[in-house]
Amino acid sequence: NQMTLPAANNRTASSSEVLQLLREICLPLAVERVALPNAGGRVLCEPICAPEDQPAFDRSSVDGFAVRRDDAAARFRVVDEIRAGDWKPRQLQPGEAVRIATGGALPSDGLQVVMREDAEREGEFLSVLRRDDERNIRFRGEDARAGQVLIEPGIWLYPGTLGLLASVGCAQPLVTRLPRVLHLATGNEIVPPEEQPQRGQIRDSNSTLVRAFLEQWRIQPTQLRVPEDEAAARTALESSAHEADLILISGGASVGEHDFTRHLLEQFGFTIHVSKTTARSGKPLIVAQHGNTIAFGLPGNPLAHFVCLNLYVRAALEALAGRPGESVFQTGVLMAALPADGNAREMFWPAHWRLHDGVATLTPLRWRSSGDLTSLASANALIRVTAGAQRLERSSWVEFVSTEMTL
Ligand code: AMP
Ligand code: MG
Repeated sequence: NQMTLPAANNRTASSSEVLQLLREICLPLAVERVALPNAGGRVLCEPICAPEDQPAFDRSSVDGFAVRRDDAAARFRVVDEIRAGDWKPRQLQPGEAVRIATGGALPSDGLQVVMREDAEREGEFLSVLRRDDERNIRFRGEDARAGQVLIEPGIWLYPGTLGLLASVGCAQPLVTRLPRVLHLATGNEIVPPEEQPQRGQIRDSNSTLVRAFLEQWRIQPTQLRVPEDEAAARTALESSAHEADLILISGGASVGEHDFTRHLLEQFGFTIHVSKTTARSGKPLIVAQHGNTIAFGLPGNPLAHFVCLNLYVRAALEALAGRPGESVFQTGVLMAALPADGNAREMFWPAHWRLHDGVATLTPLRWRSSGDLTSLASANALIRVTAGAQRLERSSWVEFVSTEMTL
C-alpha cells in the first residue's frame, strides 16, 4: 500500500496527497481494554450486545400508584410501597393499590400506574381523580432485547455512548490504545511562556498549542525544548523516539542551513515521504515513516502549526485510532469577502465559523503572515482557498475544516 509520490528530493505534495498518504501509512494501533472513565474519545473495537432485556423488568415510568388494569374502582386501599430498587412481587386484589416510585419494579403483570398527580391520598386510601389508557410502564425489553447489538464497533465513544456501556455492564470496553507522542520544539530563540524573552528571543507558543491540540484526543505528549542543533535533537530522539508512535518536530523543517529535521530523521532510518507541500500556510512539511512510527517536521510558524495540526496530524490521529478515510472538509458560506490574490498555491485561511439556521457561516480572520498569531484568538476553522482563486466574494460557498473537535 505504498503511495506513489515524486521520487527522492522532489517530494512536494498537495494537501490532498498528504492526507491520502497519511490514511495509507498510519495503521490502527493495537487494542486494549480500559476502564470506562478512561474510554472517552477512543474508538470502540468490539460490538456491544445487551446482556439482558433492556429494561430487565417492568418498571414504573412515573411516581404514582399501581392498580389492576381490570379494576375500574375510583377508590383503592394502599397495601404496600415500592421504591426504586425494591423487589416485591405480589398479586393485587381488586380495590388494592401499591404506592410505586419512578423506576420501581412492578409487583406483577396486568397493572397500570396512576400518576400521583391524578390521585388523592387520604390515609391508607386513595381516590383516583383521572384515569386514561396510559399504563406508565417501561416494559421489559422495550428498549432492546437480550443479545441485541447495541453498538457497532468502529465508533468514537461519546459521553452518551459511555453511559450506555455502563448501563449494560461493559466496564472495560475494548478500544484502540492512545498513540505515544513525542514533541520536540526546536529553536535557539524560544523561551518558556512564563519567562521574559531577551532581545531576539520569543516565547514558545507551539508547545502549548501542540499540547492543547493533543489533549482534545486525551493524548499526553512527551515534550522537550531543544536548541536548533542537530546533535541536541538527536540526543532527545535517541532517548525517547523508540517508544513513540508519532514524533512531531516543530521548527527546522525547511531548507535553511540550520534546518536539520530531514537529515536527522534520515539518520534514524526514516523514509521521507513528503518534504514540502504546495499548500500555505505550512509549506515546509516533512512526513516520514520508520516501521509503524510516523514523524512530522512542522514549520515553526504558529499559524502553520495550527494548519498542519488540524489538517495532517489530525488525519494521522484518526487513522491511528482506526477511523481513517473521512473527509475533513465541510462547506459553508463566506460572511465577508476574502482577498485571495490569485496565488498559485492552495491556502488555508483562519476563520471563525458557526451554524446559522443550519448553514455554516464563515468569517475570515485577519491574516498577513503565518507568523501572526492574533487571528488564533478566535479561529475555529480554516477556509480552503483553492489554488489560483481570486477574491472570494461574500456569500460564496467555500470548503473549510473545523478545528473544533467533534469526534
Ligand atoms: P523554523 O521553522 O524553525 O524556521 O521557524 C519558523 C518561524 O517560527 C520562526 O520565526 C521561528 O522563530 C518561529 N518559531 C519556531 N518555533 C516556535 C515556537 N515554538 N513558538 C513560536 N514560534 C516559533
Ligand atoms: Mg527554527
